[in-house]
Amino acid sequence: MTKPMLLAALTAALLACALRGAAAPAQDAPGVDAEAMRCLEMRRGQPAGAMALARRLLDAGALPALTEMKIQVCLGYAAGLAGDVATARAAAARLQDLSRRDDIDPQDRLRVLSNLGAIRQLAGELQGALSAYLEAYASAEATDARAVQVATLVNIGSIHSEHLGAYALAEQYYAQAAALSDAGADHDRATLYYDRVVNLLRMQQPQRARRMLDEARRIAAEERNGLVAARLDAEAAGLLIGTPRQDEAAAALAEAIAVQRALPDPAGEAASLVLRARLERAQDDSAAALASAAAALAAIEGDPAPRERRDALRERLAALHALGRDEEALAASEDLARLQIDALRAFNLDNLALLQAQMQDAAATREALESRHQAELHALQAGRDRTLRDVALGALGLLLVAGLGVALVQRKATRRLRRLSNTDALTGLVNRRAATARLAAGTAAAPAHGDQRDVLMLIDVDHFKAINDRSGHAAGDAVLVALAGTLRQACRPDDLVARWGGEEFLVLARGLTPSGASAVAERLRLAAAAGADDGPRISVSIGFAPCPFFADGTRGGWQDAARIADVALYAAKRAGRDAWTGLWGVDPARGDVAGVLADPDRSAVAGAIEILGAQAPDWRPALAEPAPGSTPTLH
Ligand code: GH3
Ligand code: MG
Ligand code: MG
Repeated sequence: MTKPMLLAALTAALLACALRGAAAPAQDAPGVDAEAMRCLEMRRGQPAGAMALARRLLDAGALPALTEMKIQVCLGYAAGLAGDVATARAAAARLQDLSRRDDIDPQDRLRVLSNLGAIRQLAGELQGALSAYLEAYASAEATDARAVQVATLVNIGSIHSEHLGAYALAEQYYAQAAALSDAGADHDRATLYYDRVVNLLRMQQPQRARRMLDEARRIAAEERNGLVAARLDAEAAGLLIGTPRQDEAAAALAEAIAVQRALPDPAGEAASLVLRARLERAQDDSAAALASAAAALAAIEGDPAPRERRDALRERLAALHALGRDEEALAASEDLARLQIDALRAFNLDNLALLQAQMQDAAATREALESRHQAELHALQAGRDRTLRDVALGALGLLLVAGLGVALVQRKATRRLRRLSNTDALTGLVNRRAATARLAAGTAAAPAHGDQRDVLMLIDVDHFKAINDRSGHAAGDAVLVALAGTLRQACRPDDLVARWGGEEFLVLARGLTPSGASAVAERLRLAAAAGADDGPRISVSIGFAPCPFFADGTRGGWQDAARIADVALYAAKRAGRDAWTGLWGVDPARGDVAGVLADPDRSAVAGAIEILGAQAPDWRPALAEPAPGSTPTLH
């Protein structure tokens, strides 16, 4: 085609479009609308018929946007159910465009977006589905449409649970949805609670699952939801596998399967058959288990029921193994692997396309996240009682608003947030909260090698109050920042250096002997005294104790080491400051931590500990030094 011809053809096409647009609605809208509704009603039960009807309606000519949306929803949904991925994806793309038109009412846009999510999910476009759900959630939140908020949270949860195997994340979404629906949002609560039960079982949390199951059964009875009730009966029976009540379980499963066949609820029936297979294997009847697994696969033949299919394939594999039918077991395991690889591949391709499309948004989103994080950080510093999880959820909320569901961004945001809330804002060192967590994680299993132990050191600035008083609070802050840098430099990279409190720091130095620890303490003291060139002269006092305090490691976690290091620090202060003291557990047979805390000298004389460095003239007034002029009282 030559250029002018191309131009002419284009002009003609545009003209035709414009004319059609001007004449719209070309069809009798009420009639078509009724047909569209009929299509929507048919989409689940008769997907092939619904697809044919939708195509006919779309071919007939121009339609009002809302009517076309209904038909595209019908077409996409039915195609997804029928396994016609290409058609489902094309319908989803068209719906995406339609949802962006200005003349769409917010309520209708909401409905379209949540249907768009469902269609993308059916078509295996998981990232696209997440995006649509998140966008729907954001507009539902803006318009306070609670039921849609719940529905989208449930759908996001189910993508995480059923497709991505991210059960803990799924539980977070389900819990959020449950909180909203318990507060009165109009939603199918029985199904939500059922999904939660199944997810908790997958998380290997049978206790919580059992409690949730009781709650779910109550709700299903209340809502007269027979389908969910039968599924819950089956799950309850599943919990009896491996207990002496297996006969009871078999009877309950048989009953549930009969109900599900009659309803019909093919996916539920498949889930129950999988449980029956598991029970039969537990009863050493692998042949019956194999038959049950096959029946489960037959029940969902042609259905996209990824969760049930995966479980049924697993059961079939286990039964074949148990029967020694290795060739078939190999083929079954390949089936299972293919299913998982296909899901992953679809997910990744999808991921790439989405990332590309959202490239332009990325910069804006990053900025928004940045300022949000700053705000969160401030909130944390203001001492508001917000847990890390709340903060993470807050960031998630922002993501929802931004309409960005990319898991990558989400994960990065959470990690960044975690880093910020683990850091002391003034010095940039690890803060007390994070240090405590590391101490707790690190010392539980820390074995002692010879006389080498991790050593916990507390470092306190001498007469720091005087620096504040003399030079002002800002100068005091600068001293703390400089000292933090000095300590960090004077320690090894894998030592923990943290801000423990106002002008007090904690160092956990790895694998030291008593003389090694003494050398490190002296090095830190000298480094602090050398200080920064432009700052005021300072000195520090240091107390240290090994962690675990006694080499056998049987008693005392890091808390004991910290208490004893504190007593040692006091000794250094009492000995004149600008000094260090260490208390080192030597022989647990000759004393204990309580004895050391009460009277270090006596413990040393008994041979339980060794005292290193400066010694206090008297340890005990540490506990209750009377204020000048006051009369000490005895309790
Ligand atoms: P000592 O040698 O016995 O440790 O005396 P000290 O003055 O260092 O100890 P004290 O506990 O009496 O005073 C500590 C001071 O540190 C009091 C508090 O106002 C100040 N402080 C705590 N946190 C900060 C901070 O972040 N910045 C500044 N500038 N001062 C702080
Ligand atoms: Mg001090
Ligand atoms: Mg202090």
